[in-house]
Amino acid sequence: MNRLDAQVLRETACRLRRNRAEKKRSGLYPLETLILYVTMRCNCKCAHCFLHDALNTGADEMSLDQIERLAESVPPLRQLQLTGGEPTLRRDLPEIIRAFARRGKAALIGVNTNGLNTGEIVALAEAVKGEFPALGLAFQISIDGLEETHDRLRGVPGCFGKAMETLRRLSDMRQRLPGLAAHVLTVISESNYKELVPLNDYLRENVGKDVLQGFELVRNVETTAWNIPRAIKEANTGPKKSVLPPVEAFDRIARDLKKLNRRSANPANAFHVHNLAQLEMVKTGRPQFKCVTAGQAIGVVYSNGGVAHCEFTKPFAKLSEFGWDFQALWRSEAAEQRRRQIGQCYCIHGCFHGTSVEYSWKGLARMFLAGL
Ligand code: SF4
Ligand code: SF4
Repeated sequence: MNRLDAQVLRETACRLRRNRAEKKRSGLYPLETLILYVTMRCNCKCAHCFLHDALNTGADEMSLDQIERLAESVPPLRQLQLTGGEPTLRRDLPEIIRAFARRGKAALIGVNTNGLNTGEIVALAEAVKGEFPALGLAFQISIDGLEETHDRLRGVPGCFGKAMETLRRLSDMRQRLPGLAAHVLTVISESNYKELVPLNDYLRENVGKDVLQGFELVRNVETTAWNIPRAIKEANTGPKKSVLPPVEAFDRIARDLKKLNRRSANPANAFHVHNLAQLEMVKTGRPQFKCVTAGQAIGVVYSNGGVAHCEFTKPFAKLSEFGWDFQALWRSEAAEQRRRQIGQCYCIHGCFHGTSVEYSWKGLARMFLAGL
Protein backbone atom coordinates (compact mmCIF):
# COMPACT_ATOMS: atom_id res chain seq x y z
CA MET A 1 0.00 0.00 0.00
CA ASN A 2 1.46 3.36 -0.96
CA ARG A 3 1.53 6.49 1.19
CA LEU A 4 -1.31 8.23 -0.67
CA ASP A 5 -3.58 5.19 -0.25
CA ALA A 6 -2.84 5.09 3.49
CA GLN A 7 -3.63 8.80 3.79
CA VAL A 8 -6.90 8.47 1.81
CA LEU A 9 -8.01 5.52 3.96
CA ARG A 10 -7.17 7.34 7.19
CA GLU A 11 -9.07 10.46 6.10
CA THR A 12 -12.06 8.45 4.84
CA ALA A 13 -12.27 6.53 8.14
CA CYS A 14 -12.13 9.79 10.16
CA ARG A 15 -14.85 11.30 7.98
CA LEU A 16 -17.03 8.24 8.38
CA ARG A 17 -16.74 8.42 12.19
CA ARG A 18 -17.48 12.15 12.17
CA ASN A 19 -20.45 11.81 9.82
CA ARG A 20 -21.92 8.92 11.81
CA ALA A 21 -21.69 11.00 14.98
CA GLU A 22 -23.50 13.84 13.20
CA LYS A 23 -26.21 11.49 11.94
CA LYS A 24 -26.72 10.21 15.48
CA ARG A 25 -27.03 13.78 16.71
CA SER A 26 -29.24 15.29 13.99
CA GLY A 27 -30.81 12.28 12.25
CA LEU A 28 -29.08 12.99 8.92
CA TYR A 29 -25.61 12.71 7.46
CA PRO A 30 -24.34 16.24 6.83
CA LEU A 31 -24.73 17.56 3.30
CA GLU A 32 -21.28 17.25 1.72
CA THR A 33 -21.94 17.48 -2.02
CA LEU A 34 -24.39 19.53 -4.02
CA ILE A 35 -24.88 18.60 -7.67
CA LEU A 36 -25.98 21.82 -9.31
CA TYR A 37 -27.32 21.79 -12.86
CA VAL A 38 -26.61 25.25 -14.20
CA THR A 39 -28.17 24.66 -17.61
CA MET A 40 -30.01 22.06 -19.65
CA ARG A 41 -28.47 23.33 -22.88
CA CYS A 42 -25.84 21.18 -24.54
CA ASN A 43 -23.74 21.25 -27.70
CA CYS A 44 -23.23 17.47 -27.88
CA LYS A 45 -25.59 14.72 -28.99
CA CYS A 46 -24.37 11.77 -26.97
CA ALA A 47 -25.88 8.36 -27.66
CA HIS A 48 -25.64 7.43 -23.99
CA CYS A 49 -26.91 10.76 -22.60
CA PHE A 50 -28.59 10.47 -19.24
CA LEU A 51 -30.90 13.42 -19.91
CA HIS A 52 -31.65 13.34 -23.63
CA ASP A 53 -35.33 14.37 -23.33
CA ALA A 54 -34.60 17.28 -20.99
CA LEU A 55 -31.88 18.94 -23.09
CA ASN A 56 -32.30 21.99 -25.30
CA THR A 57 -36.03 22.39 -24.63
CA GLY A 58 -35.77 26.11 -23.82
CA ALA A 59 -36.59 25.40 -20.16
CA ASP A 60 -36.17 28.19 -17.60
CA GLU A 61 -32.81 28.55 -15.87
CA MET A 62 -32.24 30.02 -12.41
CA SER A 63 -31.00 33.58 -12.63
CA LEU A 64 -27.66 34.57 -11.15
CA ASP A 65 -29.50 36.38 -8.38
CA GLN A 66 -31.40 33.20 -7.48
CA ILE A 67 -28.16 31.21 -7.52
CA GLU A 68 -26.62 33.82 -5.18
CA ARG A 69 -29.48 33.17 -2.76
CA LEU A 70 -28.93 29.44 -3.04
CA ALA A 71 -25.20 29.97 -2.34
CA GLU A 72 -26.07 32.08 0.68
CA SER A 73 -28.30 29.40 2.17
CA VAL A 74 -26.33 26.16 1.58
CA PRO A 75 -24.11 24.92 4.40
CA PRO A 76 -20.35 24.81 3.70
CA LEU A 77 -19.83 21.89 1.32
CA ARG A 78 -16.97 19.53 0.67
CA GLN A 79 -17.81 19.69 -3.01
CA LEU A 80 -20.01 21.66 -5.35
CA GLN A 81 -20.40 19.80 -8.65
CA LEU A 82 -21.53 22.00 -11.52
CA THR A 83 -23.13 20.08 -14.31
CA GLY A 84 -25.73 20.19 -17.06
CA GLY A 85 -26.10 20.10 -20.10
CA GLU A 86 -22.80 21.75 -20.79
CA PRO A 87 -22.07 24.18 -17.93
CA THR A 88 -19.70 26.30 -20.00
CA LEU A 89 -22.60 27.35 -22.23
CA ARG A 90 -23.68 29.60 -19.36
CA ARG A 91 -21.89 32.87 -19.89
CA ASP A 92 -22.17 33.75 -16.22
CA LEU A 93 -20.45 30.52 -15.07
CA PRO A 94 -17.52 32.50 -13.55
CA GLU A 95 -20.03 34.51 -11.47
CA ILE A 96 -21.82 31.32 -10.40
CA ILE A 97 -18.51 29.92 -9.14
CA ARG A 98 -17.70 33.24 -7.50
CA ALA A 99 -21.08 33.18 -5.67
CA PHE A 100 -20.02 30.04 -3.78
CA ALA A 101 -16.27 30.71 -3.55
CA ARG A 102 -16.65 34.23 -2.15
CA ARG A 103 -18.79 32.87 0.68
CA GLY A 104 -16.41 29.98 1.34
CA LYS A 105 -19.23 27.52 0.63
CA ALA A 106 -17.19 24.81 -1.14
CA ALA A 107 -13.71 23.43 -0.55
CA LEU A 108 -13.76 21.96 -4.05
CA ILE A 109 -15.73 23.06 -7.09
CA GLY A 110 -16.02 20.52 -9.89
CA VAL A 111 -17.14 21.28 -13.43
CA ASN A 112 -18.39 18.46 -15.67
CA THR A 113 -17.69 19.29 -19.28
CA ASN A 114 -17.57 17.72 -22.72
CA GLY A 115 -14.45 19.83 -23.31
CA LEU A 116 -15.67 21.42 -26.55
CA ASN A 117 -15.26 25.03 -25.37
CA THR A 118 -11.51 24.96 -24.79
CA GLY A 119 -11.00 28.74 -24.76
CA GLU A 120 -13.77 29.41 -22.23
CA ILE A 121 -12.62 26.57 -19.96
CA VAL A 122 -9.00 27.69 -19.90
CA ALA A 123 -10.03 31.30 -19.26
CA LEU A 124 -12.36 30.16 -16.49
CA ALA A 125 -9.58 28.19 -14.79
CA GLU A 126 -7.21 31.18 -14.99
CA ALA A 127 -9.78 33.62 -13.65
CA VAL A 128 -11.07 31.46 -10.79
CA LYS A 129 -7.66 30.28 -9.60
CA GLY A 130 -6.31 33.83 -9.92
CA GLU A 131 -9.05 35.10 -7.63
CA PHE A 132 -9.30 32.13 -5.25
CA PRO A 133 -5.87 30.48 -5.12
CA ALA A 134 -6.79 28.17 -2.21
CA LEU A 135 -9.95 26.83 -3.85
CA GLY A 136 -9.87 23.33 -5.35
CA LEU A 137 -11.10 23.49 -8.95
CA ALA A 138 -11.50 20.23 -10.85
CA PHE A 139 -12.65 19.85 -14.44
CA GLN A 140 -14.10 16.47 -15.32
CA ILE A 141 -13.76 16.03 -19.06
CA SER A 142 -15.76 13.32 -20.80
CA ILE A 143 -13.68 11.16 -23.12
CA ASP A 144 -15.30 7.85 -24.00
CA GLY A 145 -12.94 6.24 -26.46
CA LEU A 146 -10.33 6.78 -29.12
CA GLU A 147 -11.04 9.44 -31.73
CA GLU A 148 -13.43 7.58 -34.03
CA THR A 149 -15.40 5.99 -31.18
CA HIS A 150 -15.60 9.19 -29.13
CA ASP A 151 -16.78 11.37 -32.02
CA ARG A 152 -19.38 8.79 -33.03
CA LEU A 153 -20.67 8.43 -29.46
CA ARG A 154 -20.82 12.17 -28.88
CA GLY A 155 -22.38 12.91 -32.28
CA VAL A 156 -19.98 15.79 -32.96
CA PRO A 157 -17.12 15.46 -35.46
CA GLY A 158 -13.88 16.83 -33.96
CA CYS A 159 -15.14 16.44 -30.39
CA PHE A 160 -12.23 14.16 -29.42
CA GLY A 161 -9.60 16.62 -30.65
CA LYS A 162 -11.17 19.49 -28.74
CA ALA A 163 -11.61 17.50 -25.53
CA MET A 164 -7.96 16.41 -25.74
CA GLU A 165 -6.83 19.99 -26.33
CA THR A 166 -8.80 21.10 -23.24
CA LEU A 167 -7.29 18.28 -21.19
CA ARG A 168 -3.73 19.05 -22.34
CA ARG A 169 -4.02 22.78 -21.68
CA LEU A 170 -5.50 22.31 -18.22
CA SER A 171 -2.89 19.66 -17.40
CA ASP A 172 -0.11 22.07 -18.40
CA MET A 173 -1.59 24.76 -16.14
CA ARG A 174 -1.56 22.53 -13.04
CA GLN A 175 2.13 23.20 -12.39
CA ARG A 176 1.61 26.90 -11.77
CA LEU A 177 -1.92 26.72 -10.36
CA PRO A 178 -1.94 24.35 -7.37
CA GLY A 179 -5.40 23.01 -6.59
CA LEU A 180 -6.38 22.89 -10.27
CA ALA A 181 -7.17 19.39 -11.53
CA ALA A 182 -8.31 17.87 -14.81
CA HIS A 183 -9.81 14.37 -14.78
CA VAL A 184 -11.11 12.24 -17.60
CA LEU A 185 -14.42 10.44 -17.12
CA THR A 186 -15.20 7.52 -19.41
CA VAL A 187 -18.75 6.15 -19.55
CA ILE A 188 -18.55 2.42 -20.30
CA SER A 189 -21.12 1.25 -22.84
CA GLU A 190 -21.54 -1.42 -25.51
CA SER A 191 -19.67 0.83 -27.96
CA ASN A 192 -16.42 1.38 -26.08
CA TYR A 193 -15.83 -1.37 -23.51
CA LYS A 194 -13.06 -2.89 -25.66
CA GLU A 195 -11.19 0.41 -25.74
CA LEU A 196 -10.66 1.08 -22.03
CA VAL A 197 -7.00 0.04 -21.97
CA PRO A 198 -6.07 1.50 -25.40
CA LEU A 199 -7.66 4.82 -24.40
CA ASN A 200 -5.75 4.92 -21.12
CA ASP A 201 -2.52 4.10 -23.03
CA TYR A 202 -3.25 6.98 -25.38
CA LEU A 203 -3.94 9.41 -22.53
CA ARG A 204 -0.73 8.43 -20.72
CA GLU A 205 1.29 8.91 -23.90
CA ASN A 206 -0.31 12.21 -24.88
CA VAL A 207 -1.01 13.90 -21.55
CA GLY A 208 1.24 12.22 -19.03
CA LYS A 209 1.56 9.09 -16.91
CA ASP A 210 -0.17 10.87 -14.04
CA VAL A 211 -3.38 11.41 -16.04
CA LEU A 212 -6.45 10.85 -13.86
CA GLN A 213 -9.18 8.75 -15.43
CA GLY A 214 -12.41 7.58 -13.82
CA PHE A 215 -15.03 5.20 -15.17
CA GLU A 216 -18.76 4.84 -14.87
CA LEU A 217 -21.01 2.13 -16.29
CA VAL A 218 -23.71 3.72 -18.45
CA ARG A 219 -26.79 4.22 -16.33
CA ASN A 220 -30.48 4.06 -17.03
CA VAL A 221 -33.38 4.25 -14.62
CA GLU A 222 -35.03 1.23 -16.27
CA THR A 223 -32.08 -1.16 -16.36
CA THR A 224 -29.68 -0.11 -13.61
CA ALA A 225 -32.00 0.88 -10.76
CA TRP A 226 -34.26 -1.32 -8.67
CA ASN A 227 -37.21 -0.90 -6.27
CA ILE A 228 -37.84 2.80 -6.87
CA PRO A 229 -41.51 3.44 -6.05
CA ARG A 230 -43.32 4.14 -9.31
CA ALA A 231 -44.78 7.45 -8.07
CA ILE A 232 -41.36 9.01 -7.52
CA LYS A 233 -39.35 7.35 -10.29
CA GLU A 234 -37.93 9.88 -12.75
CA ALA A 235 -38.96 8.77 -16.24
CA ASN A 236 -36.66 8.77 -19.27
CA THR A 237 -33.47 8.98 -17.25
CA GLY A 238 -30.90 7.23 -19.36
CA PRO A 239 -30.29 6.47 -23.04
CA LYS A 240 -33.33 5.83 -25.24
CA LYS A 241 -32.30 2.19 -25.63
CA SER A 242 -30.14 0.04 -23.41
CA VAL A 243 -26.51 0.54 -24.37
CA LEU A 244 -25.02 -1.56 -21.57
CA PRO A 245 -22.16 -3.82 -22.61
CA PRO A 246 -23.18 -7.50 -22.84
CA VAL A 247 -23.06 -9.26 -19.46
CA GLU A 248 -20.63 -11.83 -20.94
CA ALA A 249 -18.12 -8.97 -21.27
CA PHE A 250 -18.29 -7.98 -17.58
CA ASP A 251 -15.38 -10.24 -16.50
CA ARG A 252 -13.19 -8.68 -19.17
CA ILE A 253 -14.26 -5.17 -18.14
CA ALA A 254 -13.51 -5.95 -14.47
CA ARG A 255 -10.06 -7.27 -15.45
CA ASP A 256 -9.32 -4.12 -17.46
CA LEU A 257 -10.53 -1.84 -14.66
CA LYS A 258 -8.31 -3.65 -12.14
CA LYS A 259 -5.34 -3.33 -14.49
CA LEU A 260 -5.96 0.40 -14.97
CA ASN A 261 -6.53 0.94 -11.26
CA ARG A 262 -3.09 -0.53 -10.53
CA ARG A 263 -1.63 2.17 -12.80
CA SER A 264 -3.20 4.95 -10.73
CA ALA A 265 -1.53 6.84 -7.90
CA ASN A 266 -4.35 5.90 -5.50
CA PRO A 267 -5.55 2.32 -6.13
CA ALA A 268 -7.35 2.24 -2.74
CA ASN A 269 -10.13 4.47 -4.01
CA ALA A 270 -13.86 4.18 -3.45
CA PHE A 271 -14.79 4.73 -7.06
CA HIS A 272 -12.86 1.66 -8.18
CA VAL A 273 -14.65 -0.42 -5.55
CA HIS A 274 -17.91 1.08 -6.82
CA ASN A 275 -17.03 0.23 -10.46
CA LEU A 276 -16.54 -3.45 -9.63
CA ALA A 277 -19.68 -3.45 -7.48
CA GLN A 278 -21.81 -1.88 -10.22
CA LEU A 279 -20.82 -4.65 -12.64
CA GLU A 280 -21.83 -7.19 -9.99
CA MET A 281 -25.11 -5.40 -9.35
CA VAL A 282 -26.14 -5.41 -13.03
CA LYS A 283 -25.01 -9.04 -13.42
CA THR A 284 -26.92 -10.33 -10.40
CA GLY A 285 -29.58 -7.66 -9.77
CA ARG A 286 -28.55 -7.69 -6.11
CA PRO A 287 -27.56 -4.58 -4.07
CA GLN A 288 -23.91 -4.14 -3.14
CA PHE A 289 -23.65 -1.02 -0.94
CA LYS A 290 -26.74 0.48 0.66
CA CYS A 291 -27.45 3.95 -0.71
CA VAL A 292 -27.09 6.20 2.33
CA THR A 293 -26.00 9.36 0.54
CA ALA A 294 -29.04 10.44 -1.55
CA GLY A 295 -30.96 13.13 0.29
CA GLN A 296 -28.43 13.28 3.09
CA ALA A 297 -24.77 13.66 2.07
CA ILE A 298 -25.71 14.58 -1.52
CA GLY A 299 -28.48 16.70 -3.00
CA VAL A 300 -29.39 17.69 -6.55
CA VAL A 301 -30.56 21.13 -7.67
CA TYR A 302 -31.79 21.42 -11.25
CA SER A 303 -31.37 24.49 -13.42
CA ASN A 304 -35.03 25.46 -12.90
CA GLY A 305 -34.65 25.36 -9.10
CA GLY A 306 -36.20 21.90 -8.65
CA VAL A 307 -34.57 19.82 -5.91
CA ALA A 308 -34.24 16.04 -5.81
CA HIS A 309 -32.49 13.59 -3.52
CA CYS A 310 -30.97 11.89 -6.59
CA GLU A 311 -31.39 11.96 -10.36
CA PHE A 312 -33.36 8.71 -10.57
CA THR A 313 -36.16 10.14 -8.40
CA LYS A 314 -38.36 13.11 -9.24
CA PRO A 315 -37.78 16.54 -7.72
CA PHE A 316 -39.86 16.85 -4.57
CA ALA A 317 -39.89 20.65 -4.23
CA LYS A 318 -38.71 23.86 -5.82
CA LEU A 319 -36.41 26.41 -4.24
CA SER A 320 -38.85 29.17 -5.25
CA GLU A 321 -41.43 27.63 -2.86
CA PHE A 322 -38.98 28.18 0.00
CA GLY A 323 -37.85 31.70 -0.88
CA TRP A 324 -34.66 30.22 -2.40
CA ASP A 325 -33.60 29.10 1.08
CA PHE A 326 -31.94 25.73 0.58
CA GLN A 327 -31.70 24.82 4.27
CA ALA A 328 -35.40 25.44 4.80
CA LEU A 329 -36.20 23.16 1.87
CA TRP A 330 -33.69 20.46 2.89
CA ARG A 331 -35.15 20.25 6.39
CA SER A 332 -38.79 20.49 5.24
CA GLU A 333 -41.48 17.84 5.67
CA ALA A 334 -41.46 17.33 1.86
CA ALA A 335 -37.76 16.41 2.00
CA GLU A 336 -38.34 14.09 4.97
CA GLN A 337 -41.24 12.37 3.28
CA ARG A 338 -39.14 11.70 0.17
CA ARG A 339 -36.33 10.31 2.35
CA ARG A 340 -38.79 7.78 3.71
CA GLN A 341 -39.82 6.82 0.15
CA ILE A 342 -36.28 6.03 -1.03
CA GLY A 343 -35.37 3.66 1.78
CA GLN A 344 -35.60 0.44 -0.24
CA CYS A 345 -34.22 1.28 -3.69
CA TYR A 346 -30.76 0.55 -5.02
CA CYS A 347 -28.93 1.54 -8.20
CA ILE A 348 -25.53 1.92 -9.83
CA HIS A 349 -25.48 5.74 -9.96
CA GLY A 350 -21.84 6.59 -9.24
CA CYS A 351 -22.35 9.85 -7.37
CA PHE A 352 -24.52 8.11 -4.79
CA HIS A 353 -23.41 4.47 -4.85
CA GLY A 354 -19.74 5.43 -5.27
CA THR A 355 -19.91 7.74 -2.28
CA SER A 356 -21.91 5.19 -0.26
CA VAL A 357 -18.83 2.95 -0.45
CA GLU A 358 -17.07 5.51 1.76
CA TYR A 359 -19.95 5.39 4.24
CA SER A 360 -19.51 1.77 5.26
CA TRP A 361 -16.72 -0.21 6.96
CA LYS A 362 -17.25 -2.91 4.30
CA GLY A 363 -16.45 -0.27 1.66
CA LEU A 364 -13.32 0.82 3.49
CA ALA A 365 -12.19 -2.80 3.77
CA ARG A 366 -12.64 -3.24 -0.02
CA MET A 367 -10.70 -0.01 -0.61
CA PHE A 368 -7.91 -1.34 1.59
CA LEU A 369 -7.78 -4.61 -0.40
CA ALA A 370 -7.72 -2.68 -3.71
CA GLY A 371 -4.64 -0.84 -2.48
CA LEU A 372 -2.62 -3.99 -1.66
S1 SF4 B 1 -23.98 13.30 -21.99
FE1 SF4 B 1 -23.40 15.39 -21.32
S2 SF4 B 1 -22.31 16.22 -23.08
FE2 SF4 B 1 -23.50 14.49 -23.82
S3 SF4 B 1 -25.45 15.31 -24.58
FE3 SF4 B 1 -25.74 14.67 -22.43
S4 SF4 B 1 -25.35 16.50 -21.22
FE4 SF4 B 1 -24.47 16.86 -23.26
S1 SF4 C 1 -29.39 7.10 -5.88
FE1 SF4 C 1 -30.10 6.08 -4.03
S2 SF4 C 1 -32.13 6.94 -3.67
FE2 SF4 C 1 -31.64 7.35 -5.80
S3 SF4 C 1 -32.50 5.65 -6.96
FE3 SF4 C 1 -30.37 5.18 -6.51
S4 SF4 C 1 -30.48 3.97 -4.64
FE4 SF4 C 1 -32.43 5.04 -4.83
